[in-house]
Amino acid sequence: MSFEVDPVCGMRVDPVRAVHKTVYGGRVYYFCSKHCKVLFEGDPEYYLKHGPVGMLSGRGEGED
Ligand SMILES: [Zn+2]
Repeated sequence: MSFEVDPVCGMRVDPVRAVHKTVYGGRVYYFCSKHCKVLFEGDPEYYLKHGPVGMLSGRGEGED
């Protein structure tokens, strides 16, 4: 089973069950909620550059 990461808040999203998703730059991004999707669509470059700005404070651990 593989997860996608919500680019807005950093939550893991199951792409099979995700209902909130959008296509940007030729790939699909998944979101935990409509709220995150709306934020991403408002400024996708920001979130792609800066990464998730939600719950993740200790980045760099457990990412594989
Ligand atoms: Zn989210």
